[in-house]
Amino acid sequence: MDVDARSRRYDALNLVSQPVWIFDFDHRRIHWANRAALDVWCDTSLERLCMRDLGSDMSDAVATRLDQFRQDFITHDAIFVEQWTIYPAGRPVPLTVRISGHRLDDGRMAMLCEASGSVVQEPESLRSVEALLHTAVMITLYGSDGRPLYRNPAARAAARTPDERFEDRMVDPVEHDALLDELASAGTATRTLLIHTPDGERWHEISARRCRDAVTGQDAVLVSEADVSAIKNAESRARFLALRDPLTCLANRSQVMRSFSESVEGIQDAGLQAALMFIDLDHFKDVNDTLGHAAGDALLVEVAYRLRQLVRENDLVARLGGDEFLILLVARDVRAEVDRTRQSILQAIAEPFDVHGHEVRITPSIGVSLYPRDGTDVHTLLRNADLAMYTAKELGRNDLAYYDTHMSDAVRSRIALETDLRRALERGEIEVAYQPIVDVGSGRIVGAEALARWRHPERGMIPPSVFIPIAENIGLIRAIGSFVFRSAARQQVAWLRSGSTLRVSVNLSVRQLKLGELLPDLTGALEDAGGDPRFMQVEITESMLLGNDDAMLDLLHAVEALGLTIVLDDFGTGYSNLGYLQRFPIRELKIDRSFVQSLDTNRAVAEMIVSMCRLMRLSVVAEGVETAEQLDWVKAHAIERCQGYLFSEPLAANAFTSLLSTQPFLVEA
Ligand code: C2E
Ligand code: MG
Ligand code: MG
Repeated sequence: MDVDARSRRYDALNLVSQPVWIFDFDHRRIHWANRAALDVWCDTSLERLCMRDLGSDMSDAVATRLDQFRQDFITHDAIFVEQWTIYPAGRPVPLTVRISGHRLDDGRMAMLCEASGSVVQEPESLRSVEALLHTAVMITLYGSDGRPLYRNPAARAAARTPDERFEDRMVDPVEHDALLDELASAGTATRTLLIHTPDGERWHEISARRCRDAVTGQDAVLVSEADVSAIKNAESRARFLALRDPLTCLANRSQVMRSFSESVEGIQDAGLQAALMFIDLDHFKDVNDTLGHAAGDALLVEVAYRLRQLVRENDLVARLGGDEFLILLVARDVRAEVDRTRQSILQAIAEPFDVHGHEVRITPSIGVSLYPRDGTDVHTLLRNADLAMYTAKELGRNDLAYYDTHMSDAVRSRIALETDLRRALERGEIEVAYQPIVDVGSGRIVGAEALARWRHPERGMIPPSVFIPIAENIGLIRAIGSFVFRSAARQQVAWLRSGSTLRVSVNLSVRQLKLGELLPDLTGALEDAGGDPRFMQVEITESMLLGNDDAMLDLLHAVEALGLTIVLDDFGTGYSNLGYLQRFPIRELKIDRSFVQSLDTNRAVAEMIVSMCRLMRLSVVAEGVETAEQLDWVKAHAIERCQGYLFSEPLAANAFTSLLSTQPFLVEA
């Protein structure tokens, strides 16, 4: 339809004194305008006005607003009254416009605009109208019945329908009521709430304030909203992460602490009981030590997966740290549920794990505490389940123990010992004793083995066979081991200065055998003491060589390169594999005291070992020589040196020094 035809169609509207025009959404042009509107648009020809492209410098906000209008006209027959500023000749013309939908002859929806003439307005209010139009903040004025009286474009975009009520936008009606209560009492309210929007549920920070509708004077509520979903999601993700173990994605200890009381609330009234199953993997550290931490992590992930599979959906499965897992069960007959779960855990963990191509087998030890019998708060229950777990370990691992109040004092005292050991070094409770090593031919003291001692303030002397394994387990062995080596190196220098050249031997634990830790510890100690490495020895045992791997070979070569001698300790108790002696840089061998003490039965093997050492030019020390007969055997086989109670027990350094000055074992020439 050309402009003339349109003029005929809308001619009657030329009689209206108000400016009226029809806007074509699709072409972003004026479709038709009456005479009064031509004045407003500063044009004299309708034809020319209809040619103007109003879309060319239209802002995004205006374009969005127009789309909203079209939508609302199509679906809702809506009518709006708005303050507009148009720029017909580059200058602003403020108008109050009533806008409604109008179908063109071709069926498309257009917009009928009726301006109430140019009103003289304050610049402030003009600007504020513009700001309202363009801001991303959603602003809505609701009447006291909750219906919207006005929405700015941003608010309109966030509402599902133009007349959507405040209440209907809330996902949680309870929150709406609470907001209204606060509004009623305080006049304003600010909350972050979940809101229905055309894009689904979003988090809006809502500020509401009571006011009056400027048109009717009735009570109204002015609501401004900002979408804070991004912040809110980041927050909840952070919260989620804080309560999760990042490795396995199971709940972590904090989550257990938080959700425990919730989980057990009211269960007694419902006739239910709860149980904490504390699961620890046996010898997990060995996996870490032999295959590396990445392999250890992969194993933990797989264990977590298997545990999750075998419980019911609502049971809490958590990783408390390290190789410790926890399952919280709630059931009518919780013991039956624990027994069922125990069976599934043992089965699931018994299946070999494929860890980076290695087949790994592992077993669990499980301790159980029952709620409320063994405690009502999570700390007590965890501690008791942990105690029960220790008992399960002491009973031979790979099984479960229930906590009971008489649970072995040994377990408690072991735990107490762990705590004490952590402070033992700094409190100076760790000491070093020295056992003389005697040259069999001359009877002269030629060396000393440094042996760690723990002088416990209440329990007295605790032997290394007790505390060294604990230190290994709780990660203290490096500190203790390097303390012993440091003391021994210093002592060696002290004896040297007073005229005795002794070779001092220090025991190493398997957990000290890490290149990056051992070498700096040894060199640091030697430098500090000003010691000569040629007079220092380190003792390792066969089991440490079991893996037969290159890393161990490199490490021992590095130790040897420092000038230290490597001694193979306790030979004869383990695998007695002479192959190690060839492959690794071992210069000396100690025949274990159990061997020396059972010569009656083991003589042939002992003699074979000695002759092998001869062949390989290894020097030999006999340990644990307690009797004259044993010494005779040592002599008969030309074993160079020995140590044992026949000569002396391990002694404090000053007692050892006195012994040196008397040299009581010297053989008369
Ligand atoms: P080991 O290295 O084989 O030390 C020899 C052990 O035999 C010492 O026990 C010593 O007191 C004992 N012994 C010496 N002569 C005789 C004897 O004639 N008869 C008997 N029955 N025993 C004798 P101790 O001091 O209790 O040490 C036990 C083990 O603890 C040591 O065995 C060693 O493996 C470990 N150990 C001691 N100190 C340290 C240390 O500083 N670091 C590490 N990693 N392990 C240590
Ligand atoms: Mg030793
Ligand atoms: Mg030994």
